[in-house]
Amino acid sequence: MVSRVIPVQPFDLVLFGATGDLAQRKILPGLYHRFEVEQMPDDARIIATARSSMDTEQFRAQILASMKEFAPGFKQDVLDQFLQHVEYIPVDALGESGWSELSAALRPDVVRAFYLSVGPSLFPGIAQRLSDHKMASPDSRIVVEKPFGHDLASAKALNEGLRACFEEHQIYRIDHYLGKETVQNLMALRFANSLFEPLWNSTHVDHVQITVAETVGVDGRGAYYDQSGAMRDMIQNHLVQLLCLTAMEPPSKFSPNAVRDEKVKVIEALEPVSPADIARGQYRADKGGDGYTDHVGNADSRTESYIALKVHLGNWRWAGVPFYLRTGKRLRARESEIAVFFRDPPHTIFPNVGPLRGNVLVIRLQPDEGITLRTTIKDPGPGGFRLSDVSLDMSFADALGEDASAPDAYERLVMDVIRGDQTLFMRGDEAEAAWAWVDPIVEGWEDRGDRPSLYDQGSSGPEDALMLMHRDGRRWRQIGG
Ligand code: NAP
Repeated sequence: MVSRVIPVQPFDLVLFGATGDLAQRKILPGLYHRFEVEQMPDDARIIATARSSMDTEQFRAQILASMKEFAPGFKQDVLDQFLQHVEYIPVDALGESGWSELSAALRPDVVRAFYLSVGPSLFPGIAQRLSDHKMASPDSRIVVEKPFGHDLASAKALNEGLRACFEEHQIYRIDHYLGKETVQNLMALRFANSLFEPLWNSTHVDHVQITVAETVGVDGRGAYYDQSGAMRDMIQNHLVQLLCLTAMEPPSKFSPNAVRDEKVKVIEALEPVSPADIARGQYRADKGGDGYTDHVGNADSRTESYIALKVHLGNWRWAGVPFYLRTGKRLRARESEIAVFFRDPPHTIFPNVGPLRGNVLVIRLQPDEGITLRTTIKDPGPGGFRLSDVSLDMSFADALGEDASAPDAYERLVMDVIRGDQTLFMRGDEAEAAWAWVDPIVEGWEDRGDRPSLYDQGSSGPEDALMLMHRDGRRWRQIGG
């Protein structure tokens, strides 16, 4: 099945931090792909900026090198055409140089988007200069990357800095997990089908497991990560967002504020988490290799590279249903999924088969995006009546063809910005509500001086996380199983 591509309106996209890792690895290759499938109109322009002094030709050469590394399947003739849409203007985000040139380069009558692919400390300064130089028109958009703050106070300060120059409907806070096809499919699965929604509550759901496991460590971003940790870097945004989409009430319509209103209600229903329901870990040194503390250059670090939590939502639908969240680095496999465990059947009519196991619906985000439903069937063959568990498996790539998992999350989100669709972006109150829940949890372990437990690289995480589940008579789904 080939996805239908509708060209967006003409635009000027100003990309701050264009020489940086994210821009070169994700955003610019993503824009190229949208150009290749003809979603970018002929009069679209990308105005790349950073402090580095270079001209447009040198910057285009940098894109070519990045494409070879990060998107090697590109077509040279298409890339040549794409690069004609890209220009480079050096701008110092915190100084005065380059702003007049940038202002002069913008066209008055096209969609104007400013993508801040720079550290958050630069957000307010850039927003202010855009406003001072009269570049921020009432219809222009500003896109900011994660992390959106370090705690509630810093998130509020960022919101204030941005709102001093832009209205909320112009601010696009990226959580790239929301751009993933399967994450959006979770909404389709729940709200475009009548099968699951009647079962989607504490009467029928035993518990939910949300896992984001990574094989990479913190190499290369140790200094940032050690100030942050898995709770701030992953739970506050990505896993809370996945939890929201899993647990929210059906919005009255598929519009940005209707969806985000429901998500905020989920975050506000999150109950405080007891220390006994938290397992924090840090990957230890490999045989002869380095561990977390070596990677961050801090031998005494108490920052977690792994966290598992049991959380509850204090609302009618989910009362008593635990949501287990876990994420970590240097684990056995790279895997992200949401697994909804339905309750065991109350009674078995089949003799000698033992207790029946409930169904499990698994929404796989990566790898191999798709949906699986564990069901119990009769073991084929004559003789006794035996049962076994099988998966009804729908891999999107198999069902929908190779295009199924495209576009990449960033491609989708950048085009949504141009379209002016905020549905898949975090609203300011959402980000603040998530920090309001996270802050006391982090302060709790900081005040107690808790140290994370060590775990082996290539494992499923620390023992404590297994115990967290075992205590409740449940088991984690196997990572890399
Ligand atoms: P990076 O590689 O350090 O790039 C930073 C960019 O900002 C560079 O282009 C740098 O270029 C520019 N810059 C720095 N100071 C500047 C200033 N005063 N004025 C103008 N430009 C300035 O960072 P990154 O990894 O691309 O990350 C960018 C943002 O995305 C961060 O907020 C990060 O947290 C977020 N993010 C990154 C990733 C990722 O995979 N990399 C994933 C999720 C979120 P010059 O030095 O030439 O000025």
